[in-house]
Amino acid sequence: MQKILTGQVLQFLANPFEGPAEESARVITDGAILVEGGRIAKVGRAADLLADYPQAVVTRYGDHLICAGFVDAHVHYPQTAIIVSWGKRLIDWLNTYTFPEEMRFADAGFARETADRYLDLTRANGTTTVTSFCTIHPESVDALFDAAEARGQRIVAGKTCMDRNAPDGLRDTAQSAYDDSKALLEKWHGRGRATYAITPRFSPTSTPEQLAAMGALWAEHPEVLMQTHLSEQLDEIEWVKELFPNSRDYLDTYEEHGLLRPGALFGHAIHLTDRERARLKEMDASLVHCPTSNTFIGSGLFDMAGLIAEGQRVGLATDTGGGSSFSMLRTMAAAYEVGQLRGTPLHPAQLMWLATQGSARALRMEDKIGNIVEGMEADLTVLDLASTPAIAQRHVRAGDIWEALFPTIMMGDDRAVVDCWINGEP
Ligand SMILES: [Zn+2]
Repeated sequence: MQKILTGQVLQFLANPFEGPAEESARVITDGAILVEGGRIAKVGRAADLLADYPQAVVTRYGDHLICAGFVDAHVHYPQTAIIVSWGKRLIDWLNTYTFPEEMRFADAGFARETADRYLDLTRANGTTTVTSFCTIHPESVDALFDAAEARGQRIVAGKTCMDRNAPDGLRDTAQSAYDDSKALLEKWHGRGRATYAITPRFSPTSTPEQLAAMGALWAEHPEVLMQTHLSEQLDEIEWVKELFPNSRDYLDTYEEHGLLRPGALFGHAIHLTDRERARLKEMDASLVHCPTSNTFIGSGLFDMAGLIAEGQRVGLATDTGGGSSFSMLRTMAAAYEVGQLRGTPLHPAQLMWLATQGSARALRMEDKIGNIVEGMEADLTVLDLASTPAIAQRHVRAGDIWEALFPTIMMGDDRAVVDCWINGEP
């Protein structure tokens, strides 16, 4: 069946970090998108598409803005119910809140209920793809992939592996992590829209033997992604030095076990050494900025401008539940604020690009999702740029599309999300 959405259509034509940001995108006012078989079949003026495809089912969004669905490049869906737990820093936060909650995911029913709730919440916020850590339990992985498959949703996920420095009941072993990850990878990777990510939580909770087992699995299956954490807090980095006295630095704990190459996703990456930055660039790994988490847990200020200028591949993420919001709008706002604190504010075009194409590029899926281009998958988010009285009264003063969009980026939430299309379905 052919479907047409009409509204203002936002298309990125170029990377807004590589040229004038305001010229990187085009907005087709009175625009339209033809959707067929879950894909974007045509983009153009509404008058033209409505005339050319009179049989299509039409959904009219007036002057709402249709953009690519948001792509969240780093989350922990098992932390949905403990989001905004108060007052701890990273290691205490894990021990006090995260680990007790993650124990509950041995129960497949509990895991599925949380996965459904999480995907409903993020969809209501305009997010069409998430990249999630699960828990050590295979049940938690099946639950999320099942829930995403039922929604036709593109998803990246993997079993979180930990064989030390975690409580009883939340540790696997090097061998069981390898066996379980391999079985899950073979079951889910490439099935429908599912992508598997080999997922050691971070070096402090994996022995060198477990990291080596993950590296061996990745060598056998280079087609999958690998996600973990890197250099989030200073005391975490000190701990890594004690645990891996022979490694050159934090990044080296991954590299020496076969976990650094294209397709590696490193969450946070705040306190990097010059060597780490050079090596990440050389290996074309992806860095994932989680600004609401970095301020909420007090981790530090990600060097977006510097890292992008040196050619790093960067995505954007909520990091639920260390992050304080399910909303990529709120996450863009936080990225703007972190940029301001570093003296390098991001343009609204750069923020929107990071939340769509940038994250898709970090996942190496920029040819499939994250933009409105013919042939790409029809994951679309429809935004009301005047969703509250406070935003509306600012919006009427806007001189161009970026000024019209920026109040929604800074002040908007799920009320701004009018609709969300996943795989060509509203
Ligand atoms: Zn995380």
